[in-house]
Amino acid sequence: MQFTFNNTFSRLSPVFYRKVLPQGLENPHLVSFNANAAKLIDQDHTFALDEDFINVFSGKLVPEGAVPISMVYSGHQFGVYVPQLGDGRAHLLGEVVNKKNEKWDVQLKGSGLTPFSRSGDGRAVLRSTIREYLCSEAMHGLGIPTTRALCIIGSSQRVYREQVETGAILTRLSPSHIRFGSFEYFFHTRQPEALQRLADYVIEQHYSSFEQASDKYILLFDEVVRLTANLIAQWQAVGFSHGVMNSDNMSILGLTLDYGPYGFMEEFDPGYICNHSDIEGRYAFGNQPIIGLFNLNCLAHAFSELIDIDSLRASLSTYQDTYLKEYHRLMCLKLGLQNPLPGDEEIVDELLSLLHMNKVDYTLFFRGLSTMDIDRKYPDFDSLFADQAGFYNWLTTYKNRLLAENTNGTHRKKLMGNHNPVYILRNYMAQQAIELAEKGDFSEVDRLLELLSDPFTEKKGAGEYAKPSPEWGKQLVVSCSS
Ligand code: AMP
Ligand code: MG
Repeated sequence: MQFTFNNTFSRLSPVFYRKVLPQGLENPHLVSFNANAAKLIDQDHTFALDEDFINVFSGKLVPEGAVPISMVYSGHQFGVYVPQLGDGRAHLLGEVVNKKNEKWDVQLKGSGLTPFSRSGDGRAVLRSTIREYLCSEAMHGLGIPTTRALCIIGSSQRVYREQVETGAILTRLSPSHIRFGSFEYFFHTRQPEALQRLADYVIEQHYSSFEQASDKYILLFDEVVRLTANLIAQWQAVGFSHGVMNSDNMSILGLTLDYGPYGFMEEFDPGYICNHSDIEGRYAFGNQPIIGLFNLNCLAHAFSELIDIDSLRASLSTYQDTYLKEYHRLMCLKLGLQNPLPGDEEIVDELLSLLHMNKVDYTLFFRGLSTMDIDRKYPDFDSLFADQAGFYNWLTTYKNRLLAENTNGTHRKKLMGNHNPVYILRNYMAQQAIELAEKGDFSEVDRLLELLSDPFTEKKGAGEYAKPSPEWGKQLVVSCSS
């Protein structure tokens, strides 16, 4: 197996990581391979047939040129600072440079104990790897910045959670795995030189246009604020709840990172809590924007080694505007409004409150609205809104607003169709794929992977996936157990 590795991170000082070998899984087998993600590292569908493939991605064989490491970080978990976290079950094999000269971290997750495992077993269960695999590709399909997933390797290895499950390894690809928590660690352990080196590294590798600037750290922080605000606006517009927005799960590149008990909201509800372990609802859907700011504040603390407080404050104060602007732009696009006008915010807010009060499926409503002829009455919506008068009132306002948009029906439908997915990863869909996979049938994982990689296109025979969850699916709970 031939890779071109350029391991820039493991050439930094060992204060940033520990060198540690992955521990291979027992009786490994391929669960799913994602040919789309493989292209990122210049591979195609034949990659999975390579004789070393299973050995490498089950952690048994370290490919030539790889330098497996686990990265150190800390972070605020549920608002409380935890001094030492780090990759407790992940090994960064190395950075593969593709033909376009893009660098991709190749990281095994679930690959055994590391110096950061604390009381954990270093493993991931098949269930949680399938959830991360499907969701990261679903997010990519939705056009939302995210880490990617190359493959899942399953095994016969027993892993103990609430019940006995089997261990698996997810191979994650990302331009970087550096987190807000990576900076927090060096701030709170009083290692300012390492902190500065880390910031320099991020600039060198990812924001090289700032390299020569005298205020390069401010530019970097500004950029992280902007990317984070935009990322969360995208989550809100699509109805995605991360579930564990701890600062160690926040990417310095503004990617969606570390998929655990996430959820796509079904009936619109700002109070939606996807993580069963989140008793107080800290990470409820409607709290995500403010939690983004909380996490940026944690990062700002760390950056106070590099930037004066006033500049940090100024930067943080742009967050709300950036977020609101992007969220509003995305919501307008969902309604087919390309040229925002005063009053649009009220149209969006009124609609959301109608969806909330009438318990309407967020995704299906917007998709339905995208495909409707605006001049007709909307028979499909009659049954959705108990408050029909309220809805038709809103619809009249919306229709009048569309007239000002100066567009035709075909164009509007196309625009809305590109911003309102048919398919989202509802928990029950992942659950069905998991239950089959646990019996050795991986077909549903592959089917969902294909469907969700292109969620804006209606597929023949996939009508079932464009419906609300069945009752049993609505009762499913997901927690931090993974
Ligand atoms: P997470 O909640 O998955 O973002 O993980 C929080 C911290 O716990 C990170 O440092 C993880 O590496 C660590 N961790 C989670 N699960 C395990 C496990 N099974 N074994 C060792 N460390 C773990
Ligand atoms: Mg994490």
